[in-house]
Amino acid sequence: MDAFSFGVFADVQYARRRPQNHRYYQAALDKVKQYMQCFQKEQVSFLVHLGDLIDEPEDEERALCYAREATQVIQASGIPCCYVIGNHDTGSAALPRLAPLWGWQAGRAFGSFDVGAMHFVVLDTNYDAKGRHYTPATHQWEQSYVSEEQLSWLQADLARTDKRRVMVFAHALLDALDNPHAVRNGWRVRSVLESCGRKVTVLQGHMHCGYESEQNGIRYYTLPATVEGESEFCYWIVTVEKSGQMVAKIVTHEGTQTRVIGA
Ligand SMILES: [Zn+2]
Repeated sequence: MDAFSFGVFADVQYARRRPQNHRYYQAALDKVKQYMQCFQKEQVSFLVHLGDLIDEPEDEERALCYAREATQVIQASGIPCCYVIGNHDTGSAALPRLAPLWGWQAGRAFGSFDVGAMHFVVLDTNYDAKGRHYTPATHQWEQSYVSEEQLSWLQADLARTDKRRVMVFAHALLDALDNPHAVRNGWRVRSVLESCGRKVTVLQGHMHCGYESEQNGIRYYTLPATVEGESEFCYWIVTVEKSGQMVAKIVTHEGTQTRVIGA
């Protein structure tokens, strides 16, 4: 298959709320409109939002309105989008209510798909220590887990794929990092990824300043949040070349840089 590219952005946290703590909830959707024009121009095959599309913890009905509004902006691009679920999503509205809007079967927001020579995996990091999915009533942003059911699924999914290259999308960080933004049982996920015998790269959101690390041959990249700042922004266009090499065009308010993120 020929080279293809996809667009990635993180943490829109859209809501019709006043800015707070350097988070510009309403301006974030205007940034998304700009992103969409760029993604269209670049003719990307698909989009990934890395979680936290909305942020409205006070009122679930209002949260669902914001979710519909933000989703429509993305859908208007005509480019299919994969919606990773984030803690502010499940802290705003229950998963069974958000899932249909974002193409997930109710009760489950993890899965995988193939494009060209790549296997893409989407994880849901919004479970508690007992494997219960968070709701607006229970959610704790600094206590994210990947459920046992999901870990078993991941292991089986990676054993099944005939692709040698895997890209994982998750909201909270899977890095080996002592930080509340990291998934509490991230080591369990890393051990599955490290032992699957594929070349794995991970893209994440959640930690607004962005971050990256490398451990045991796997690179973990966290994109800066869209909601941060009145006019700051960041999106990536990742091109998977014929050779399998992945090149990210990183576009921010400070300029554009290109770097190889996986070979
Ligand atoms: Zn988050």
